[in-house]
Amino acid sequence: MDIFNVTCPDCKKVYYCDLILFELEVRLHCPYCGHYFYKKESPGIYMGGSGTSAVAQIKGGIRPEMIYEPQEEKDG
Ligand SMILES: [Zn+2]
Repeated sequence: MDIFNVTCPDCKKVYYCDLILFELEVRLHCPYCGHYFYKKESPGIYMGGSGTSAVAQIKGGIRPEMIYEPQEEKDG
């Protein structure tokens, strides 16, 4: 899959995201500190090479909660 590398504006660690998320105006979720931020807030974004495995870069692999912001449940 196509990925990009993003630097967390909070803890400054770099991690990988699916390029799909780069196209969307969604907040990114840092897997290290849990910070949510828009990509424009990141101090550094660069594209990963094709064929790079994002999963291999993070110990334990990527879980959905690392990427997607959970939605609040509405009261019935
Ligand atoms: Zn972070």
